[in-house]
Amino acid sequence: MKFKGGIHPDYHKLTADHATVVMPLLKRYVIPVSQHIGTPGEIIVERGQEVGRGQPLTSPAGFVSVSVHAPTSGKVKKIADFPHPLGKAQPAVEITSDGEDAWFEDIAGHGDWRDLTPARLKNIIRDAGLVGLGGASFPTHVKLSPPKEKPVDLLILNGAECEPYLTSDHRVMLEHPAEVMEGIGLLMRALGVRKALVGIENNKVDAGEALKRARPVDLDIKVHLLETKYPQGSEKHLIYALTKRQVPAGGLPMDSGVVVQNVGTALSCHDAVKLGRPLTERVVTVTGSAVREPANVMVRVGTPVAEVIDFCGGLTGDVGKVIFGGPMMGIVQSNLAAPVLKGTSGILCLVESEISQFQGAPCIRCGNCVDACPMFLVPSIMGLLVERNRFADLGEYHITDCIECGSCAYVCLSRRPLVQFFKRGKLEWHEHVKQLEGSVS
Ligand code: SF4
Ligand code: SF4
Repeated sequence: MKFKGGIHPDYHKLTADHATVVMPLLKRYVIPVSQHIGTPGEIIVERGQEVGRGQPLTSPAGFVSVSVHAPTSGKVKKIADFPHPLGKAQPAVEITSDGEDAWFEDIAGHGDWRDLTPARLKNIIRDAGLVGLGGASFPTHVKLSPPKEKPVDLLILNGAECEPYLTSDHRVMLEHPAEVMEGIGLLMRALGVRKALVGIENNKVDAGEALKRARPVDLDIKVHLLETKYPQGSEKHLIYALTKRQVPAGGLPMDSGVVVQNVGTALSCHDAVKLGRPLTERVVTVTGSAVREPANVMVRVGTPVAEVIDFCGGLTGDVGKVIFGGPMMGIVQSNLAAPVLKGTSGILCLVESEISQFQGAPCIRCGNCVDACPMFLVPSIMGLLVERNRFADLGEYHITDCIECGSCAYVCLSRRPLVQFFKRGKLEWHEHVKQLEGSVS
């Protein structure tokens, strides 16, 4: 099944054939408290305290909240504001390694997930600090707890990895198919569903075959290859492509009876339950023409990006931009001291010549953006409204349905900064709605 709209960007999956390499232990890590959507946890360690790998550094502050954990054993050196990938410095725990890399004493596997209740599985997943590893970083246990009035009958695993440079999910599926499949099984049990579908773009046939071979006989899990088309990995488009179900405007996947999880998240759920290991590391694709040795790297959460790049041979002289994530939806980094987070799927380093240097020009009404928008929006008009500060009119054009995929900007002949327009437009629109509500009450 195909979704309408979307684009076919140039693919640069330079690292698709590169087996994951493990980064050696560092002397220092910086673990930001805020790493997911929701409320950051509260710090529960003190300066000078010794910690084991996997020991919680924070405790959750509410339901939509999870802990962060020590990426190795050592001592808490400092608790202060440190550079954060989102721009502004944020509270973080700095840990100096003792070189032992010893797991925290409380770490122990929980046995076969088939013997555990759904409630117990969700608690283990919450305590392991699990969030969506595809980039959105929404706490996994919350997604697994839909309200009673929204019954869910299907789990979908997102293995699309439609961002043009990223290959971390591809490697996870190829290198750990049995663990991913067991992870899917335990997610199905936690959610109370009997059926799961895995969606993979058809540029990763080998990953699909590996998963099919590893499918446990007692589980109804089907693997589907989908057209390679951006943004195939968007939850709403993946659901439509696999089931023809449509998530209502402004709704969530659970409104169409579905929960979507990333394949990397399934692997980490397996590790949390089977091995008792909290989320302290993940696979990161380090790529682009400005990095000397592109690679898929197993990186501890809290590793400064400069160290990861050094491990991959360093930058070439003419680096123009370093991006966390992919080129379509990633976040540009201004400080290479910022650390890898749970949701960091890639570090993309582009040379100057690959960066568009010129200013956006006025809209020429070519209509390319309208054809490309997978949400059936009218990006050209939305962009003009933002430019003219007509934020109150954005509701009529459903700006809140924009998933910020960047397809419109990719095809725009005038190189207009449409996604930046829409990020600002959404904030201003929400402000406008708040003011309206305030004047009514
Ligand atoms: S960024 Fe928003 S407006 Fe542009 S194509 Fe994606 S969904 Fe449509
Ligand atoms: S693609 Fe760009 S130039 Fe063309 S209509 Fe859309 S905003 Fe205007």
